[in-house]
Amino acid sequence: MKTIIRTIDQNNIEKAAIQEAGRILQEGGLVAFPTETVYGLGADALNEEAAVKTYEAKGRPSDNPLIVHIAEFSALPKIVEEIPPLAEALAEHFWPGPLTMIFKKRAVVPYGTTGGLDTVAVRMPENLIARELILAAGGYISAPSANVSGRPSPTTAEHVYTDLNGRISMILDGGSVEIGLESTILDMTVTPPMILRPGAITREMLATVLPYVAVDPSIHGEDRDTAPKAPGMKYRHYAPKAELIIVDGPAKLAVKAIRQIAYEHVSKGEVPGIIGTTETVGRYTHGIIKSIGTRNSEKSIARNLYAILRAFDEEGVSVIYSESFAAEGMGDAIMNRLEKAAGHHRVSAEEIVRMQKYHQIMFLSESDTSRGPMAAEILRNQTLNREYDIISRGLIVLFPEPVNQKAEAIMASHKLSMASYQSKMFDPDEIEADTLVLAMNMSQKQKVMSECGIEENIYTLSEFVQEEEQIGHPIGQPLSEYGKCFETIERLIKKLTQKLNEL
Ligand code: AMP
Ligand code: MG
Repeated sequence: MKTIIRTIDQNNIEKAAIQEAGRILQEGGLVAFPTETVYGLGADALNEEAAVKTYEAKGRPSDNPLIVHIAEFSALPKIVEEIPPLAEALAEHFWPGPLTMIFKKRAVVPYGTTGGLDTVAVRMPENLIARELILAAGGYISAPSANVSGRPSPTTAEHVYTDLNGRISMILDGGSVEIGLESTILDMTVTPPMILRPGAITREMLATVLPYVAVDPSIHGEDRDTAPKAPGMKYRHYAPKAELIIVDGPAKLAVKAIRQIAYEHVSKGEVPGIIGTTETVGRYTHGIIKSIGTRNSEKSIARNLYAILRAFDEEGVSVIYSESFAAEGMGDAIMNRLEKAAGHHRVSAEEIVRMQKYHQIMFLSESDTSRGPMAAEILRNQTLNREYDIISRGLIVLFPEPVNQKAEAIMASHKLSMASYQSKMFDPDEIEADTLVLAMNMSQKQKVMSECGIEENIYTLSEFVQEEEQIGHPIGQPLSEYGKCFETIERLIKKLTQKLNEL
């Protein structure tokens, strides 16, 4: 089958394209179209055979019912037995929009559409292309997400094309969707109404209309023995090709843990994928790093979630680590999809971080213009088994300065460079429980210990590697003294590398 693609502008909808798509649907064909949540795979909801085709095209188990899309509230009574007053109030508030409600079905809705159930899920989308298409198709379009079953839902027409080209008659390309996560599903056949799938209409929002909102316990994995009430929620879903692992914990800890794991992968010759945010991507050093959006806007994260999972398919990575997000408001829906995509594979950032004693190594010197930055750069060029954030700081740095020219010349003769470095003042707040502080001499160490009350994980470099030899003070001396100083530091750093690798 040749799949026709028609580009449509939501602000200037070309009627002819809608009519053509409507005709295909009325004749029992399949048309993918944009909604505000994700792209839907449309079929005539009242035609049993069309439902069969939908399942075939998606490779979807036929016990997983479809959602019926309507464009006007007046279309509802024809397909449902009764409309509870609360449902009317909800429709008033949230339709058109990303809320699906479940009702008792009338006989006109075929069992093919409802996966054999006596209930039917109904939604009125807001997207104007979707609404025009529903009207052109006769008022009732059944539409699951327009992806191959189990894959991340499509948020662009390109995603639909990748999954369904050749299997469906037409794709209406209306650009990227707004929300990016499937609708909230609310079962109105039970009292109180129960959320079967979280979405952009949150529990808090529903609670402004409903006296009480129940939540299917299987959504949060609280009740693993009971099947979810929305049949589709029991399948592994939204999954990228790579294994996805969620790293639980506050962002800062998650970054540390993911850096640690990514480094281990890279040292084994593997390239992991990393899902970070605008706020954290700059903190990662190894792996293929992508931002899912900003922590200041859950909407941005929801909108990018599926696209980012698909983007990693193209990178060919075999494992992806993702930061986790607060499960409040829309974060609930985000975490629900992420967990399903990960097959509930979660690890604790804290436990991972605890397995590595030091994460930051700080070299402490007087001015941070020669010995300290030299030590840091030499260590960065060693083969370390684990990842460390290697920094240098000075006890007396009035303003940032480039490194000493003689120190740079000696480094350059060893094919190392600190040319872009600027000295930085020591700040005790940078020291954490997993920071190893290595001073160039005893007086620097003692100063920090007595003035800042830091007692642990602070040594002189010589002391830490159990060497007698002290590092000289080359400032103001000829180049040859810098050369000697380099050799001492290099020897100590090699011992340090060995020691760190044995930890
Ligand atoms: P999708 O259109 O891909 O978002 O999938 C539709 C979702 O709605 C699936 O999770 C279905 O299990 C759920 N659903 C559809 N109809 C019903 C129904 N009558 N009762 C419970 N869940 C339903
Ligand atoms: Mg789906």
